[in-house]
Formats: sequence, structure tokens, C-alpha cells
Amino acid sequence: MHLERDGDIAVIVIDNPPINAGSAAVRQGLMAAIETLRTDDTLQGAVLIGAGSTFIAGSDLREFGQPLIDPQLPTVIAAIEACGKPVVAALHGAALGGGFELALGCDARVAAPGTVVGLPEVTLGIIPGAGGTQRLPRIVGIPRATRMICSGERVPAAAALEAGLVDHIATGDLRRVAVAQAKQLKGRKQILRERPVPVAPSAEVAGAVSAALKAGKRRPAVQAAIDAIIATAHVSFDDGLADERAMFQRLRVSREAFALRHQFFAERDSAKHPTLGDATPRTVEQVAVIGAGTMGSGIAIAALDAGYRVLLLEQDADALERGAQRIHTHYATRVQAGKLNANAAEGCEDKLQTSLDWTELAKADLIIEAVFEDLGVKQQVFQRIDAVARPGAVLASNTSYLDLDAIAAVTSRPHDVIGLHFFSPANAMKLMEVVRGKASAPDALVTGLAVGKRLKKLPVLTGNAFGFIGNRLYAAYRRQCEFMIEEGAWPEQVDATLQAFGFAMGPFAVADLSGLDIAWRMRQAQAATRDPHARYVHIPDRLCEARRLGRKAGAGYYRYPEGGQGPEVDEAVHELIAQCRAEKDVVPRRLSDEEVVRRVLLAIVNEAALLLAEGVAERATDVDVVLVNGYGFPRWEGGPVFWARERGAAALQEDMGWLAELCGPGFVAGDLRHLLATES
Ligand code: NAD
Repeated sequence: MHLERDGDIAVIVIDNPPINAGSAAVRQGLMAAIETLRTDDTLQGAVLIGAGSTFIAGSDLREFGQPLIDPQLPTVIAAIEACGKPVVAALHGAALGGGFELALGCDARVAAPGTVVGLPEVTLGIIPGAGGTQRLPRIVGIPRATRMICSGERVPAAAALEAGLVDHIATGDLRRVAVAQAKQLKGRKQILRERPVPVAPSAEVAGAVSAALKAGKRRPAVQAAIDAIIATAHVSFDDGLADERAMFQRLRVSREAFALRHQFFAERDSAKHPTLGDATPRTVEQVAVIGAGTMGSGIAIAALDAGYRVLLLEQDADALERGAQRIHTHYATRVQAGKLNANAAEGCEDKLQTSLDWTELAKADLIIEAVFEDLGVKQQVFQRIDAVARPGAVLASNTSYLDLDAIAAVTSRPHDVIGLHFFSPANAMKLMEVVRGKASAPDALVTGLAVGKRLKKLPVLTGNAFGFIGNRLYAAYRRQCEFMIEEGAWPEQVDATLQAFGFAMGPFAVADLSGLDIAWRMRQAQAATRDPHARYVHIPDRLCEARRLGRKAGAGYYRYPEGGQGPEVDEAVHELIAQCRAEKDVVPRRLSDEEVVRRVLLAIVNEAALLLAEGVAERATDVDVVLVNGYGFPRWEGGPVFWARERGAAALQEDMGWLAELCGPGFVAGDLRHLLATES
């Protein structure tokens, strides 16, 4: 933090690289600078500006779980309001959270094009605690403030100008424009606390509130943000501010806030891998995607969105045309829905080339294979790739379950081969597993991680094991749910309980949606190698034998009558389950909802411990990243590893004994030590 002078305007430069996080030191520096502004008669106003690439992009999250250090942000903002001279916030990069609250405490806001502003605190389980909920409604009104704060929306500069969140866009030199603005304001203060809150129709307020509660699943931070915003209509600014601060203080030490911060750090670290040394990514500009089916076209869209040139290759003209059409429809739909402007869509589509000519692959820096899930087919495809790809190109497979080493082995360059396991729909899902084969070169792997980041995904490194991290965890989760319906729960109880816990969908509804036949075929393929003594639930096989293959067949764990509203409980399924229980002499018992949740968490934690012991997962927190971003695990619960650490070693060990007894033969206990070590 330093203070420069531009005539009679102080330019207060916030300098806390890399993101100018609002730390205690920054707040102390700001207080000192504001005091200089107040007391120095040669100064008539000030500009607050960030050094480097951004304004204050957020608060220092490490401070959040700790006792707060003075001066706190509301004190800094109060000093700006009381200093008697105008202060202009000059924004560039990001002004988020406390950074934007600070800007709202100033007399005017000038932003460079490309700036984003917002109050995303709710996504971390807290609310803005330095007047954000009180000042924002004074600019945009209660309904818009509710939408913005409850969703954590990041507003780009042009939209921010339109909404009045910033007063000017500085197309030239930001600092110069802000200084000119401060000069113009000389002798005046125009602080938001003095503005009235615009009156909004009560129906509009009610609509915004109920939409925010629904989208935010009525979580405490969402409810608190709404309370604070609504209060602006009927309490004084100072009372509103005090109430906001009290709610902020309460929420910042809540379990949910700890869980969300844990997830935030886990995600931030997911693409960093100490085991890859200092390898640097290879340059990728031209991507090729082989196979234009569901996944291939989704991967192509993700790459086009990220600005890559994309070559889409197929085995036959019809499949290629279908893929190209799917991509075109995708962009047309986004334009029609107003989510993308027509020029941007055209720009993306212009970067797409479709072809049946494999020699074209020679120009690709990264080739992603997304053909049928069949080892023979994939090996053939990789031989063809190997024949034409340029030296140094990264060759990636999108396989879900196949052995990456067996695919790499048919090429002359296994060190260039990695897995890039996307999730469906590939253009929308955040998670991406980067699979490390036994020969994969570190720089090929870091290329995969870097491409993942450019695709705006969360890439997680995984070893080459059946199902990698995600599908292995999910299989353990589903198996546990099958155990429970065999013991006495019904699928609808398990689904409803896990949905109430926060999963996007219950496991049996998910199984119906994706189709029961894929897993059935896999079980048949594995039948010969399965441990004959391990507990095996026959219910899913029986459903398949009865042609209840899921939603597409009109029946699975539920029935789906034509024109119906979705899954309906089916007595025939209850009978089939009862029959399976009887065949094994199982006397059904009632399982409590608490048992359902506990067993699911324990089963996942145990599988995570096994994955860590095998080295498939390198870091315990990756498990949480995978489940939250690929499998609908509720983010605000932090993930199973967060839960396990919270529970503690002794209780968890006892729980695992209980689980092992319930699961019966075949349960393999994982070593929990690595999972519980918080530095991993
Ligand atoms: P899909 O059947 O929709 O598409 C496969 C495409 O590959 C077809 O268009 C086909 O014509 C093409 N193809 C097949 N053989 C080819 C060859 N020799 N040369 C060129 N093109 C060829 O399948 P999908 O669901 O997109 O799955 C593709 C891959 O992605 C599989 O390995 C699958 O396991 C994996 N995957 C799928 C999902 C999913 O949810 N669908 C999720 C993750 C990974």
C-alpha cells in the first residue's frame, strides 16, 4: 500500500499481490492513507486503485475462520465516509466481496472495460459484512440486489454501468480518468448511505425472494442475505449495518462456511500437483476430437468456447454431420436464449472444421479420442493417430473405464498418451479427470491440467485404475445403496433422503436416467473375476432381466408412464425387491434416514481411503472436488473428506467397524490415516 500525489488528489495504491486480497495489512494501510487525506490540507480528494492486474479481488480467506483483526472493513469504510473529501474507486480486473463493498463505500466508481464486480459471499456460506447488503439496494433496488447477492453473480463492466453499480467506464487510462473524476467531485461527498432505497412493487420483491430461496435451497446464508436486504426498506442505515454485521459474524464461524471454504481451497489446489515437478505445459492451439457422438460434440463445444481451433473427425459422413448439427444447434439455442451474442457464436463455429480425412490430424497439438467404449476400437484408433500425429502432440482418451496403458501400448509414444475423462454433458460439467498412465510424461499431464483450466473445468489428476477416482467412488456409493434396499429400505426412501441431504438426485433416479443396461453389461463382463464370497445384490440384474432398463424403457426402479410427471413409485418393484430379500432369507428391517446418510458417507470415505492407499488419488481433498463437481454431492457439506475429518479418527474407526458388519463378506477396510491428515 502506498500513497502517491497527483496534484491535490491522493492516489492510494493497494499493493498486495497476486490478487490484492483485503488482508489486515491492506486495511491498516488504507486507514493510514485515509487519515492522511483527512488531515492534509493540500489534498482535496483521493483515488483508490489496485496495483497489478486487479482491484481487491476478494478477502483473504485464511483470515475467515480466525478472530477478526482490527481495523475491520466497516471501520475503513466509515473512515472514507467521514473524511470529508471525495474518494473515487478505480476498478480493474475484479472487485469482488470486500473489494466491491469498499468501492460501494466510496463516492464514485470508475471501471476499466473487462472489470467484473460482485458480492459472492453467499457462495462461501456468509453474507457481505461491510455494508454490501445495505448499500447495493440503494443503487439497484431490493429485487435486483436480492438476485445479485443470493446468487453471487459477477457483473461485467457494461452491465454494471447500466445498473448504476459503476458510474463510468474508463476506456483510456483508468487512473487518469479516476483522478479527473475526483477533481470534479471536489468539495462534495455523495455517499450511498444517504441515498433512499428505491421503492419496488411488493410482488416483485416477493418473486425475487422466493426465487432466491428456491435456488439457494433455503440455506442459512441465503436467508440471512434476504433478511438484511429486505431490512433496508424499513430500518435506518446504521441499524441495518449493525444487523448485517451481527449476521456476518455468526455465519462466518458456521459449519457451512467452514465446509464451503474447505471446498474452495480444495478446488483452488486441484490443478496443482507437486508430483509433476516443474514440468511446463506444451503449447496447445489446435485441438482435434475423434468421434462426434454425445461426448465428442460436447468436448468440441467446450474447446470452441475456450477459443481453440477444433478439428472434428469421424468414421462416417452421417455421424460427422449429426455431430456438426448438434454443435450448431447448441450455439443457435444459446443465441436464441440470449445467453450468447450472435457474433460470439459465429466466432466459435468459425473455428470448427469437420473432416473424414485422418491425415488432417497432423496439425493438432492435442488429439482427444471419444469413440465407442471398446478397447479394440480405441486401440485401432490410437494406431491410426500414431501414424499421422506430429511429434510432441498430446494424445488423449476420454475412456471411462478402459485401461489407459493398454491403449498407450499400441502407439510408439506412450509418454504422450494421457486420459482426459470428461463428464456428460462435456461442455457443461465442471469436473475433468486427467488420467496418468504408467508412461505418461509429466509435461503431457500438465498440458492436460492446463487445457482443463482453459476449458474452465476443474481438472483432477487420477491414476489409471478401473473407474479412476470418480466412478470408483460412485460405484461404492451405489453399492451401499443397493445393500440398504436389500436390507429393508425402499429405493424412494433412499432417494428422497439423499436428495434432502443435498444430492442433486438420488442414486436410483440417476440409475434410471442413465439406463440400467450399461452397468448390467459391465457386471456380466466382470462375473468371472468377481469374488464369489463377496456380498452381491441381485436386484439390479433382476430389473434388467424384466426389461426395466430405466427411464428410456418407461420403467426401472420407478415407472415412467407416458405423459407422466417423472418417476412414480411402482409396487412391482417392491415385489421384486421383496422376492430378492426372501431368496436370501433377509428379514427386512426399517432403516432410519440417518442410517442411510451415514452409511453412504462412510462407504465413500472408505473407498476414498482405498484410492489414496493405492495411489490412484494423490490428495484426499481431490475426492471432495470430484464428488461435488461431478456427482452432485452438496457443496455446502464440504465433501466426504471434510465430513470424515470433522468426525475425527476415533469415531470414524468405530463407524467403520459398524459398516463392515452391515456390509458383510467382501468389505475391504481402507487405512484412514492419510485421508485424515489435514495437510494432504
Ligand atoms: P457415442 O456412441 O455417442 O459416440 C461415439 C462416436 O464415435 C460415434 O459418433 C461413432 O460414430 C464414433 N466412432 C466410433 N468408432 C470410430 C472410429 N473408429 N473412428 C472415428 N469415429 C468413431 O458415445 P459417447 O457417449 O460419446 O462416448 C464416447 C466415449 O466417451 C466412450 O469412451 C465413453 O465411455 C466415454 N464417456 C462417455 C460418457 C457418457 O456419459 N456418455 C461420459 C464420460 C466418458
